Amino acid sequence: MKAIVVGSGAGGATAARELQGRGLDVTLLEAGSPFKPFTRRIGWATGASRMGLLGSERTITRFFPPMRTVRASDELVLVRGVTTGGTTTITCGNLARADKGLREIGLDLTPEFQELEREVGVTPVPRDRWRPVSSAMFEAAGDLGLDPAPTPKAVDMDRCVSCGLCELGCATRAKWDTRTFLGDLTARGGRVMTNSPVRRVIVEGGRAVGVEVARGRSAERFDADVVVLAAGGIGNPPILRASGLEVRDGLWVDVVMTVAGTSKGSRMLEEQPMVWSTDRGKFMLSPYFDLLALFFHKPWRGRSVRDHVGLMVKVADSSEGTVEADGTVRKTLTGEDVRRLDEGRDLAIKVMEGAGVEGPFVDGLLNGGHLGGTVPLSREDVDGMRPSHLPEGLWVADLSLAPRSQGLPTVLTAAALGLRVARRIVDGAGPGE
Ligand SMILES: Cc1cc2nc3c(=O)[nH]c(=O)nc-3n(C[C@H](O)[C@H](O)[C@H](O)COP(=O)(O)OP(=O)(O)OC[C@H]3O[C@@H](n4cnc5c(N)ncnc54)[C@H](O)[C@@H]3O)c2cc1C
Repeated sequence: MKAIVVGSGAGGATAARELQGRGLDVTLLEAGSPFKPFTRRIGWATGASRMGLLGSERTITRFFPPMRTVRASDELVLVRGVTTGGTTTITCGNLARADKGLREIGLDLTPEFQELEREVGVTPVPRDRWRPVSSAMFEAAGDLGLDPAPTPKAVDMDRCVSCGLCELGCATRAKWDTRTFLGDLTARGGRVMTNSPVRRVIVEGGRAVGVEVARGRSAERFDADVVVLAAGGIGNPPILRASGLEVRDGLWVDVVMTVAGTSKGSRMLEEQPMVWSTDRGKFMLSPYFDLLALFFHKPWRGRSVRDHVGLMVKVADSSEGTVEADGTVRKTLTGEDVRRLDEGRDLAIKVMEGAGVEGPFVDGLLNGGHLGGTVPLSREDVDGMRPSHLPEGLWVADLSLAPRSQGLPTVLTAAALGLRVARRIVDGAGPGE
């Protein structure tokens, strides 16, 4: 049986490897090019930023092609990776069992979480590799009763050189990403085709029978018995719309805002991002330098890399964004999103003050990189692991399936969903199939 998997990120690579391992003949189509980390020194970029020469956040793609940004509104920037490994190549390396909204519809991903954690390996960053300012904020958060804990990481600490540039790709490959799974896929006989953006799913007689890939102005057809979309929360909707299929306007993104303060000589960039975190339910706090804001956010212009301190507020936002056929994304913050951000900011400032970090405290760039909710699973679909409004033969295997925002790291969630979907495809279809 032939399978096409679209996208090589957390969900797609995991699903593709599993399908190939279970005897299907898998071709994975990836829109981006093979991943290359950013290896130049960042000093020139901060210098250019100080002089206002970098322009908007879109410039990042010029010097680091895998990272793509799109404005969802005047205030909100969305970030994703378009490359082999998808967004997993530009993560901070955090892992969490984020399953808000999934348990509620009867989906328990614990077995997949356990299996993937065992394989990937999870460990915190040892305390002696935290910068003193992050340790001080950890203590201050503890004093405030916030119960902070070291963040579980998918990072080989022996290979990590604490460059702090995880989101620009790991130059030493200390940080795990799904290129490992792509290696397994090809070793088992599967194919990965890069620079192959899927334009639409071909549906004939009510059944998905293949996809069309854009080749300049023309298109190439790939036939398959099974089509699995894993182009991510804002990648799937244009494909579905171009295919005349339904998309739900339920995009959530886990909005991030980093509060900046100052501590002389803190050199916070010389540690992994987010070495500890505290989950407050509606939001989480975690030490975070925020390179994107440092380069492109005007209110941060001129901040010293040596002295800059950041504490991230990550909010579980409302599921109300839309993605149009041409890829345009529209999402504004709701009143509740803003209240959560305000609450998080106040608490972040208390933690920073408690740690001796000095103000003025300046809000960072509002951004989101956990993109889900556009093809959400419902309770009725959990058995079959396939949204029932899709034509037969068409599956979705990434974070798009998660109906609600998490406010927590989402790689493991997307990968676990990919694994469950792949097994459902092989082990027999659910109701309605
Ligand atoms: C800066 C940043 C840091 C993050 N840090 C963490 C972290 O530390 N821990 C964590 O758990 N999560 C983190 N995340 C979130 C996490 O990476 C994502 O939630 C996760 O990768 C989503 O998986 P996915 O499979 O849904 O999508 P993706 O991983 O984005 O994969 C989608 C894939 O589809 C491809 N694609 C898109 N359109 C097409 C098309 N038309 N045709 C073919 N291919 C297509 C893309 O190139 C990509 O390879 C971070 C995100 C960002 C932006």
